[in-house]
Amino acid sequence: IRKPVFRSTWILRHEDVIINKKIGSGAFGEVFLARMVDPTSEYLLDCAVKTMKQEASTDAKLRFHKEARMMRKNYKHNHVVMIFGVATLNSPLLIVMELCPNGSLISYLRKNKGKVSLLEKLRFIYETASGLSHLEKMNCVHRDVAARNCLLSAKNAIKISDFGLADDRRLVIDTFLDKLPIKWLAPEIMQEKMYSLKSDIWAYGITVWEIFADGDEPYPGLSNVQARAKIVAQDYRMKLPAEAPPEIVQIVETCWDKNPDKRKTMTVHSNALQIYYEARAPP
Ligand code: ADP
Repeated sequence: IRKPVFRSTWILRHEDVIINKKIGSGAFGEVFLARMVDPTSEYLLDCAVKTMKQEASTDAKLRFHKEARMMRKNYKHNHVVMIFGVATLNSPLLIVMELCPNGSLISYLRKNKGKVSLLEKLRFIYETASGLSHLEKMNCVHRDVAARNCLLSAKNAIKISDFGLADDRRLVIDTFLDKLPIKWLAPEIMQEKMYSLKSDIWAYGITVWEIFADGDEPYPGLSNVQARAKIVAQDYRMKLPAEAPPEIVQIVETCWDKNPDKRKTMTVHSNALQIYYEARAPP
């Protein structure tokens, strides 16, 4: 039995993280299934570990630290992926976080096409709104809200993940539009390169569409360029599949208001959706 050592529990030691098999790959490194020695109880806990290679650029490393900081600031919520700590004293850099064993919402929707019940979709929509309303309260602009970045816990609960672009300034001006997910971007981002909590609300509307469309790609049949042109020049908006109840259609409509200030907050949506979902869910 090892003696407990006094140390900050936020910084983990590499030898306390036992990396197992690869479960995903990210923009700058890979994600692994792992176990960690819990610094307080000394128990082994299942976890997921995001790694960053030693050869990564300084810029990428800074971004990695920022991602960890954003996760740490926002972790205390049922519907946001919890971070356990970071291992930064050695290489590779590690972000150690809660494991979401059921993978991403997008793959769940695609795998179970036509089989996900309306009730479960309503729960996904509510839980995503609930996680985002927490980020909104923390003033965290996520910048990559999409079904691919909603992960599923062992109980299939939504956990918002991927804080690789997240920022806690209210307004983020970013000119790097190359690699961005065009079909999730609000018009003000495409026109003025301005991200805000309000542009996350737009992306939430797209995510709700993805849920009702069983994981189809938004703006079916349109390229990024075509979709962007139709949204900006013609105020085009997608229609939700007929299965979507009118209350949900209405929520998505406000998320897609051209005027960012007219989009109701995630907290308003989350509260309304909680009531709507719980009235339909079995006790
Ligand atoms: P990037 O921001 O570089 O795209 P992500 O954070 O999205 O990286 O992670 C890449 C993939 O790794 C995800 O799509 C998911 O499949 C997997 N993954 C990430 N975090 C977890 C987690 N906590 N539990 C389970 N799988 C995860």
